[in-house]
Amino acid sequence: MATVFSKRGALIAPTLVANLKARKFDAYYAADAAEAVEKALSLIPKGSIVAWGGSTTLDQIGIKDRVSKEGFTVIDRDKAKDPQERVELSRKGLLSDVYLTSSNAITEDGILVNIDGFGNRVAAMTFGPKNVIIIAGINKITKTVEEAYLRIRNYAAPLNVARIGLTKTACANTGFCGDCKSDECVCSFIVHTRMSKVAGRTKIIIVGENLGY
Ligand code: SF4
Repeated sequence: MATVFSKRGALIAPTLVANLKARKFDAYYAADAAEAVEKALSLIPKGSIVAWGGSTTLDQIGIKDRVSKEGFTVIDRDKAKDPQERVELSRKGLLSDVYLTSSNAITEDGILVNIDGFGNRVAAMTFGPKNVIIIAGINKITKTVEEAYLRIRNYAAPLNVARIGLTKTACANTGFCGDCKSDECVCSFIVHTRMSKVAGRTKIIIVGENLGY
């Protein structure tokens, strides 16, 4: 059944997908999360080594379990025994065949905007893995880069800080970005991706649901 989100998605998707394709991304629209998972799985070549970045969207749609069940070799830093192994697995993920992630925001004209604390996720999005598959709910679409910044720093990042349980950032105490330089800051790197330099390396699935934040 169509929801208000899938209705909005259907309105936005045709132009957005065309704008993403003009930037040499492969781009698709999925009406819901189940369709997005099947589409993503169809884009992963047999025998691939698959890694992923931290993402509430990926957790919500259950794709990590599906990838494991489909028999792909998985690099999962959440399985690390200690912080040192977690860093090592993050480094190995940069040489995966397919890297799964979401995007903090995507502008209507097709620019990806992402904020990262340690930078492993934005590094993988930029260079390393042979393919990147981005799955993003319709709630991540913004009109402009400026709106993307505001959304990420005053909404997504504070929620992420709360999810992780951090306490030292400015937003942990106010709910809004205070441009902190805390050692717990989740906004060390702010990366715009204007286009896929290698055509089709980055594949983007826009979903007609609210996913993540
Ligand atoms: S207060 Fe710090 S961690 Fe929070 S959104 Fe701003 S820069 Fe990021």
